[in-house]
Amino acid sequence: MPAKQPAKSSGKPAPKRRAASAANPRKPAAKKVRSGPGSKRAGKPLDPKIVHEIFQRLHDANPEPKGELEYVNPFTLLVAVVLSAQATDTGVNKATRALFKVADTPEKMLALGEERVRDYIKTIGLYRNKAKNVIALSEQLIARFGSEIPKTREELESLPGVGRKTANVVLNIAFGQETIAVDTHLFRLANRLRLAPGKTPLEVELGLEKVVPKEFRQHAHHWLILHGRYICKAIRPECEKCVVADLCTSPDKRI
Ligand code: SF4
Repeated sequence: MPAKQPAKSSGKPAPKRRAASAANPRKPAAKKVRSGPGSKRAGKPLDPKIVHEIFQRLHDANPEPKGELEYVNPFTLLVAVVLSAQATDTGVNKATRALFKVADTPEKMLALGEERVRDYIKTIGLYRNKAKNVIALSEQLIARFGSEIPKTREELESLPGVGRKTANVVLNIAFGQETIAVDTHLFRLANRLRLAPGKTPLEVELGLEKVVPKEFRQHAHHWLILHGRYICKAIRPECEKCVVADLCTSPDKRI
């Protein structure tokens, strides 16, 4: 969710409300954070040699990073990513294992119907709305795209329940495009490492597209998401396990 824009100055002393955190736009920043997307420090671009070194180390630690959502073809990948909004990959996998056994194509999903899809995914947050979207996107895939998953962001984003992040994940994983899907973990890490400071996921995505060295673009988003999810956590990042700790200048660093 994009961070709220700061209120315009009225000349009066600013209210004592804390700014949104660079690490998580939905949470207020901790008092000790002195830099963030809007600070002078965040505005200074990182040395390209440091950017290269960060990705080299993430690559060396995990040369072939993989997403954690389970799928059997591009259609089930798209459905899994749609279901993963505001849910964990583990929770989605638990629900989709059974669902994809009976419905791994748009036609089978449509035949299953909204009510039964809802039953399969009822352990996932927002399941009613997501079931509706899965049926609607299956209908549209059949009617508009010959049951194939489209290969452009614009076409993907025209489907129900599919936003830019979902489209980027599908383009990257299913079609090998060098897209960067910015989730909450990647947003936090890109700001902490100052790889691409930004107030919104789109700002971070476009910033990363400019700085990620060509040889690392294919897997950049996986490395950053996994590092953010398991090491550079929102609360109590595990800096002692971080392979780029010596390159990190974040005030959130704990070593
Ligand atoms: S040193 Fe800590 S805060 Fe910095 S990137 Fe590593 S885990 Fe995150």
